Amino acid sequence: MKTGIPLPKICVYVKIPSYIACRDMMFIDFRKKIEKIRLCLWWFYSSKTDDEEIHRVSEEAAAIMGIKPFKNIKICPRFYMANAAVIGFRCRTLVLTKTLLELLNIEELKAVLLHEYAHCKLKHQLKLMSLSMMLLLGIALICIYIVLSLEQEALALGISIPLLIISYISIYILTRFILKRFELEADCLAVSKLNNTITYINILRKIKMVNGDVSGWRAILSPHPPIDKRILYISTCVNK
Ligand SMILES: [Zn+2]
Repeated sequence: MKTGIPLPKICVYVKIPSYIACRDMMFIDFRKKIEKIRLCLWWFYSSKTDDEEIHRVSEEAAAIMGIKPFKNIKICPRFYMANAAVIGFRCRTLVLTKTLLELLNIEELKAVLLHEYAHCKLKHQLKLMSLSMMLLLGIALICIYIVLSLEQEALALGISIPLLIISYISIYILTRFILKRFELEADCLAVSKLNNTITYINILRKIKMVNGDVSGWRAILSPHPPIDKRILYISTCVNK
């Protein structure tokens, strides 16, 4: 079909013959990118649940861990992935995906909740927030010092801007490393409270079947360690 509208360069390179096919491909590509951004904010697409069984299991897990139960429990039905997360550093809200609830039985759900309460008990959210803020403040002060101490404004900006970019990337990778460490710590505490290593390892295997696993450079940027590493760590931490 000739429309008279020139094909975008990307479609010429990948040899897509018509303008309509090219437009559709780019639209699908754009929608995929938007969906990926939404996936990063999956917990945002959730709503509060009053499910008595989920709240009962949550209260039981909180009692085992010796802390206050979550005030709000939310469910995210939108994405096909098994995930749970504590929102905010005060540990008052928990978000679970519908896929996770469909995947696990009540005993397994309790183990997952123990893992989330372990993050709260070990104050992981608070520690991460404090560390990130301290690092950002430190870098901001260094940049201000450079700008104020150098005579030439262009030179000061030439040093400060790359320094800010490098610092941001370094902090991002460092926080991902710390998050992975926190995951292992939470696994270890949850397993010690659950007293059932096999159940816990089976949950991780079920989650891997749904979510897949990370490896290579993706593992560096992921907030979670690879599932096999978590299983290995649980085995060593239980035997300590
Ligand atoms: Zn976790």
